[in-house]
Amino acid sequence: IDPHQMVFNAIRSVPDWPKPGITFRDITPVLQDPRTFRVLLDIFVYRYMRERLDLIAGIDARGFIVGSVLAYELKLGFVPVRKKGKLPFQTLAEEYSLEYGNASVEMHTDAVRPGQRVLLVDDLIATGGTMLAAAKLLQRLGANVVEAAAIIDLPELGGSKLLRENGASVFTVCE
Ligand code: 5GP
Repeated sequence: IDPHQMVFNAIRSVPDWPKPGITFRDITPVLQDPRTFRVLLDIFVYRYMRERLDLIAGIDARGFIVGSVLAYELKLGFVPVRKKGKLPFQTLAEEYSLEYGNASVEMHTDAVRPGQRVLLVDDLIATGGTMLAAAKLLQRLGANVVEAAAIIDLPELGGSKLLRENGASVFTVCE
């Protein structure tokens, strides 16, 4: 079986969560099964093992799981992109709009050095708002965002298109 298909098959769709009309794509079964978890990480490892990277930036919270394993395997450092108010040191924030209201992501101001080549990782791209805000934050810190990587793209929500229109390279394991 194709590795991408194996990951796809393990994703659980939960109807009407977190609210009626929304189908949540749940990656916990992907992580729970040891072979699927390994296949998922191997897809990312093979894609980036020849890429010149300095750091992995993982987005709160599921981006931490994939991002930190990938950083360890590629012998890179890991830095967190967190939701507002979680980081203790000096931070820089980037706001983005949600369906109702605003949200923001934060990073420590010393998380990256100018010119560092950073891979951005999350579990899923929906509207792309989170990934785009994280990419902007990294760029404000002087980083070079090599690619935005996720397990799942929901293409009908336009996030990957939006990211590409903003000059980002995007990689996802499945749609
Ligand atoms: P966006 O900012 O692209 O609209 O939403 C993506 C962010 O929301 C990601 O950080 C992701 O973890 C979370 N998210 C939104 N919808 C889903 C979903 O159906 N499944 C999962 N696993 N995460 C989601």
